[in-house]
Amino acid sequence: MASLGQQAPVAGNGAGATATIEVENPATGELITTVPVLGAAEVEAMAARARAAQPAWDVIGFEGRAQVLRRAQKWMLDNAERVIDVVVSESGKTVEDAQLADLGYTVSALGFWAKQARKYLADERVPSWNNPVVAGKKLIIRYAPAGVVGVIGPWNYPIANSFGDCVPALAAGNSVILKPSEVTPLSSLLMEEMMRECGLPEHVFQVATGDGSTGAALIGHVDCVMFTGSTETGKSVMKAAADALIPCYLELGGKDPMLVLADADLDRAANAASYYSMNNAGQVCISVERVYVEEPVYDEFVTKVSGNISRLRQGPPTGAGAVDVGAVTFPPQLDVVQEHVSDAVSKGAKVLVGGHSRTEAGRFYAPTVLVDVDHSMKIMREETFGPTIPIMKVSDCEEGIRLANDSSYGLQASVWTKDVERGEQLARRIEAGVVTVNDAQMNYSALNLPMGGWKASGLGSRHGAAGIRKYTKVQSLLVTRRAPKREPHMFPYRARRTMMLRRAFKLLYGRGSRD
Ligand code: NAD
Repeated sequence: MASLGQQAPVAGNGAGATATIEVENPATGELITTVPVLGAAEVEAMAARARAAQPAWDVIGFEGRAQVLRRAQKWMLDNAERVIDVVVSESGKTVEDAQLADLGYTVSALGFWAKQARKYLADERVPSWNNPVVAGKKLIIRYAPAGVVGVIGPWNYPIANSFGDCVPALAAGNSVILKPSEVTPLSSLLMEEMMRECGLPEHVFQVATGDGSTGAALIGHVDCVMFTGSTETGKSVMKAAADALIPCYLELGGKDPMLVLADADLDRAANAASYYSMNNAGQVCISVERVYVEEPVYDEFVTKVSGNISRLRQGPPTGAGAVDVGAVTFPPQLDVVQEHVSDAVSKGAKVLVGGHSRTEAGRFYAPTVLVDVDHSMKIMREETFGPTIPIMKVSDCEEGIRLANDSSYGLQASVWTKDVERGEQLARRIEAGVVTVNDAQMNYSALNLPMGGWKASGLGSRHGAAGIRKYTKVQSLLVTRRAPKREPHMFPYRARRTMMLRRAFKLLYGRGSRD
């Protein structure tokens, strides 16, 4: 893998900013570069430029915008090594984790929204013939761009969960300002460079580097905000959006349960549990964070998972295939993981694999398997967001469902059984925005399938029609072509017409509701 060195993207909008952020490589502890923290005035100026640029981008139309997005798709593939390099350097994740999600998801999203925006945002005709009050009038639903969209992103997928959410907003004809995480801003700056090179008009996509204060400032200047991050910050974002009276969409934390039934394909379930709890070093909002296994297969499942996880290689991601599990990207996250493991152990949990941080120059936590866990422990109740897999024995699937739902979160969940009909029925009883049967995380690749959290995991969703319509203002049009000079409900009011209308209502609605 090439070293980032001179290729680190440069922040271009920092004129006037005084504070800076040091961006480090979590796998080596090395300083990569610094980027400016944009203040309120810079964000305001940026928003004014975005607002001025937006109408022309809207006028270009779906095909014009699709051409730019397709050029970006090609650019990403042509520059795959550089893209992966930047993501790996500032996140400490493996080349494979960066390739699958940050590169793979984003190139797929660029193509998907380039093609589907027109379909999802086409004018819709709604019938008027079935309502005598408006019969004959033309009724249309139109999706107009929101204007300037603010996207605020986390550090765990510096491209997929930041720029990835900008793509449908751009396809819908909006200008976008992206506030990336202060921990991983370089990937977003690279996306800004990419969009410039691909012919996106100036100021239609801008990156506002900075910390929480920059994100907070942004909310006051945009027409809607798409936030991905922790539940705690999500609440602050929603309060700020209420003050600004703009819509906000929140993709927040999770504590995804995996329910393994006695008739599951145990090898597949164990391999999936090992992978989907440890990919991206467990720093995935839809990571398998807790597992419930029916008693008859519990021991065998634990043996298989422990074997898999004890064989994982961890360390600095020096190239493709070098390691399986990368670094802990965000310094405080290491404390959270450590605290959850210690809390569990102090309450009786047993560590079968790992259970400690590592001492090399970078920031790592060993892949960890825990058993003898229960719901008095933080590791079963709070988002750990690290390479841990706590496994709990349940007497039957009813107990598993009850425990799966015993959570403030409701992002995703999975059910594992060879009886897929039963699996689907059980899935419908789990309180989560997405439930997979004999799978996990793969729904994220189905861009036509909505993905969003229930309970404390979020509001609204990405992907599918809802994933682009949220970046629009709905406008309803009613067009009257032929009509009398004066309609019966108009002035002047006359008792005879009033009674006539009352009889008409009785006739229309007296025998129950009409459409
Ligand atoms: P975070 O909430 O700490 O920060 C997210 C972003 O919000 C950052 O860019 C930060 O600078 C900004 N921010 C902080 N305070 C702000 C404020 N007051 N106003 C506006 N912006 C503010 O989250 P994080 O630690 O970067 O990310 C990890 C979290 O993200 C985890 O909880 C994870 O589950 C969640 N996540 C969710 C999804 C999903 O799709 N549901 C996807 C990825 C990550």
